[in-house]
Amino acid sequence: MLRWFKERFSDDMGIDLGTANTLVYVKGKGIVVNEPSVVAINQKTGQVVAVGKDASKMVGRTPGHVVAVRPLVDGVISNFEATEEMLAHFIRKAMEISGKKMLGPRVVVGIPSGITNVEKRAVRDAARNAGAREVHLVEEPMAGAIGTKLPVGEPVGSMVIDIGGGTTDIAVISLGGIVASKNLRVAGDRLNDDIINYVREEFKILIGEKTAENIKLSIGSATELSEPIELSIRGRDLVTGLPREVVVTDTDIREALGPALALIVESVKEVLESTPPEVVADVMHRGLVLLGGGALITNLAKLLEDELKVPVYIAEDPLTCVVRGAGFILEDLERFASVLVEREDELAREK
Ligand code: ADP
Ligand code: MG
Repeated sequence: MLRWFKERFSDDMGIDLGTANTLVYVKGKGIVVNEPSVVAINQKTGQVVAVGKDASKMVGRTPGHVVAVRPLVDGVISNFEATEEMLAHFIRKAMEISGKKMLGPRVVVGIPSGITNVEKRAVRDAARNAGAREVHLVEEPMAGAIGTKLPVGEPVGSMVIDIGGGTTDIAVISLGGIVASKNLRVAGDRLNDDIINYVREEFKILIGEKTAENIKLSIGSATELSEPIELSIRGRDLVTGLPREVVVTDTDIREALGPALALIVESVKEVLESTPPEVVADVMHRGLVLLGGGALITNLAKLLEDELKVPVYIAEDPLTCVVRGAGFILEDLERFASVLVEREDELAREK
């Protein structure tokens, strides 16, 4: 009898609803969706025409009335409908991959830590509308810490810095709860903007977001490199309006990234200052862990170590920590009950 039921339940899912990328982990199958958090909308009809990779391919190549939007700009839901459609699309896609069943999955969704109750409700409703039968929400830094196997439930302080696309989440965790945290809107997107502005000021050429991203990934760094590197890039000359090529160096880009990285360092200091002394002692001793795509910025760990005098580690596969953590939570919902922001059963009582 039990098996008969089980066969009809969809596999449980962990979801990382990131500002830059959305990932879905299916119990027993691993990460089955890993796509940019982008939605293409036909402005004439208001309809969503593509989601994820497909939508991202359309950026800059669509007729005027189709626009590609990132529904979670700056870590907050800037476009509710698009967020709902995107989440629903990815849940359905994961359900198809894992084999469609009669009853929807239980899902654990990692949400940006700064979001409001209204936004939380939107995420939950979207997952529900997509067929989920039970929705649990967890803050992303908590999921990330669990994904990197930090001892979040123990009476010992762990610190994570999750640098994503729109936001950087800094959190100190002990005994299953966040004891100090800060969420700032300085992360990957801001770094790209800073590169665009720097290149415009210094070289008088205009580059697009994709070029800036490419510069950041290939020659971006937080402290001086042992070997200088350079990259030739193409942009539009601000005076003539024609394409022009220039060579940018790692030193240029360090200068461009410096102020934003300094803000991140300052915020980490602030969080440490507001953390209880016993817990700070744990962090000083055990170090802090970098997650999210920004963890991969060359020498960022070194910059933080130099400035904070604390050991800094880069999580293994930093872009998938949050979704893996959501997956671990799923495997043992009872054990991780205290880390969830909202539990479906509590919500049911509230109504
Ligand atoms: P989110 O959780 O907000 O969706 P992610 O953790 O997926 O964000 O990280 C996306 C960000 O990480 C993007 O801004 C991207 O440019 C940046 N990123 C990815 N890889 C690298 C890298 N190697 N160096 C620097 N930044 C990177
Ligand atoms: Mg993230």
